[in-house]
Amino acid sequence: MANIETFGQETRIFPAPAEFSKTAAISGMDAYRALAAEAEQDEQGFWGRLARENLHWHKPFTKVLDESDAPFYKWFDDGKLNVSYNCLDVHLTNGNADKVAVIFETDGGDVSKVTYRELHQKVCQFANGLKSLGIKKGDRVVIYMPMSVEGVVAMQACARIGATHSVVFGGFSAKSLQERIIDAGAVAVLTADEQARGGKRLPLKSIVDEALALGGCDTIRNVVVYKRTGGDINFVAGRDLWLHELVASQADVCEPEWVEAEHPLFILYTSGSTGTPKGVQHSSGGYLLWAALTMKWVFDIKPDDVYWCTADIGWITGHTYIAYGPTAVGATQIIFEGVPTFPNAGRFWDMVQRHKATIFYTAPTAIRSLIKAADADKNIHPSQYDLSSLRLLGSVGEPINPEAWMWYHKHIGGERCPIVDTFWQTETGGHMISPLPGATPLVPGSCTLPLPGIQAVIVDEAGHELPDGHGGILVVKRPWPSMIRAIWNNPERFKSAYFPPEFGGKLYLAGDGAIRNKDTGYFTITGRIDDVLNVSGHRMGTMEIESALVANPIVAEAAVVGKPDDTTGEAICAFVVLKRSRPTGDEAKQIAKELRDWVAKEIGPIAKPREIRFGDNLPKTRSGKIMRRLLRVLAKGEEITQDVSTLENPAILEQLKEAQ
Ligand code: ATP
Ligand code: MG
Repeated sequence: MANIETFGQETRIFPAPAEFSKTAAISGMDAYRALAAEAEQDEQGFWGRLARENLHWHKPFTKVLDESDAPFYKWFDDGKLNVSYNCLDVHLTNGNADKVAVIFETDGGDVSKVTYRELHQKVCQFANGLKSLGIKKGDRVVIYMPMSVEGVVAMQACARIGATHSVVFGGFSAKSLQERIIDAGAVAVLTADEQARGGKRLPLKSIVDEALALGGCDTIRNVVVYKRTGGDINFVAGRDLWLHELVASQADVCEPEWVEAEHPLFILYTSGSTGTPKGVQHSSGGYLLWAALTMKWVFDIKPDDVYWCTADIGWITGHTYIAYGPTAVGATQIIFEGVPTFPNAGRFWDMVQRHKATIFYTAPTAIRSLIKAADADKNIHPSQYDLSSLRLLGSVGEPINPEAWMWYHKHIGGERCPIVDTFWQTETGGHMISPLPGATPLVPGSCTLPLPGIQAVIVDEAGHELPDGHGGILVVKRPWPSMIRAIWNNPERFKSAYFPPEFGGKLYLAGDGAIRNKDTGYFTITGRIDDVLNVSGHRMGTMEIESALVANPIVAEAAVVGKPDDTTGEAICAFVVLKRSRPTGDEAKQIAKELRDWVAKEIGPIAKPREIRFGDNLPKTRSGKIMRRLLRVLAKGEEITQDVSTLENPAILEQLKEAQ
């Protein structure tokens, strides 16, 4: 019988490979439990020890956690450090100076390498350039750049001088950019002439011009332009500067600005899956600590790893697991300018093969679309590439459907690589619930157990803890160092969104539903809280029905929402993308019937979608997440009046109006 209580009953289990455990940072479940117990018994001692061991402090902290103004928690408050110093300068003297920090590959396939010494010089020059523009500690700087070494250098340069950056994804419109510039009160925008993506050149600088022309951005004094393609752009005298000219005469050393641990390193707007994006403010000390620690614990990073995270620097994953985490631990990483489907959908596998990547971290949306592509064209099937360098895979951004997990495990990981399904959020700064690859037995579709120090539990609507086996609301009971510090400019929204008074103002509310398995204690994310369906009194996670649909061989992607129904309370409406082209007419009706029967067989008749709609794609945010709030409106047959500024493919909405 379908209901949320049965979710997470996946029985396939993949133990941590013994070879892997031998050298892993956390080498088994005993080591995991010991760390988790240390954190529970002596919270301050645990975090204090890790902060001292993993970061360089210019002025040591004397206090670990200050809860006096909760939920505005302060970590390592009287300590001083510099994030860029911790990511770069430390490597000049620890033997990493000539180690490759970045292997950069352009959209067109050109490859260049940058060592830690070179990265340090670039960051210092950029930082000195920013200083020459009068940019100083506490100023906000918007970064609207393509995936590039320069993008990471720009972030690190801001960190070096204590300026707070706000990266805006390069695919966002002038309007979205303008809103973020105004909200952050930025003094400068760092951008590029154009970006090269998927064989096309897309404008960046002209969108910045447009954004500033929309008005209200009076705080902006300068626009710094990185010349990427050499395309034609407008220059506003006195305001706009070329990056190469700005840094040409700058010294390649720059004394770091030592900032308080709580100093805001960056503001990043969430992806807007559930509403208006929130300007999430992160700290310097606590944030960097968790970025470095999770690189070690979850990615088990080793000196000769070639690590590749495919995210964009416009998202939190690109902050923690490209700009800061890998550099903090002195890793060699691949940074890729382009898209997974250019020149063909074998690009990722081709790059893994050529660069001998050992760790690969991507999103379920990419995996699902590459499964579809590989099924359609044998020439770009992963079996055509040598992926034997890989030792660890990761997933982030959405729940990964068990069938997509199995494909990833088999075809990319050669049944040899553990998969870390990392549950976390912009607000959490880093991984929260995730397997440890040398310890945790894996279950497809489950993010398994909270990391040591993360007190995740499941509660009911009144905030009472639920026993294992009961689906409910995921919350975190204790603060942790990399947690969100505020919503920029909006402390009230911070409190009401994340520490709601209904839960006593003390529990961090993630906004996701989850269930813990009775036997293993493993967490499975059931979807956003708003996404739990209630059909004739049966509570069901949308994720469960979606995974059943995706388990059908003809289905590439599926999203399920509820629509109000007089008799059943809610009726299930499924939006489906097939691996083949979108069916219409009688054929669509026929396939819809087959899929209904399939779901009835997989889960139970109660889970049968009332309606099925076919599209060539689903409406997604620019970060690749399905926007279910728009699907709910479509399911009701209403016109969309909500914020669609972060939508990737608006045209798809038309197709999805037709129900089967
Ligand atoms: P907004 O908060 O503006 O609606 P968003 O929540 O999509 O946007 P992010 O912070 O980028 O913005 O995404 C975090 C969310 O992504 C989580 O709350 C969760 O719903 C989902 N998520 C991330 N990783 C996983 C994972 N491994 N398993 C399940 N869900 C995940
Ligand atoms: Mg969110």
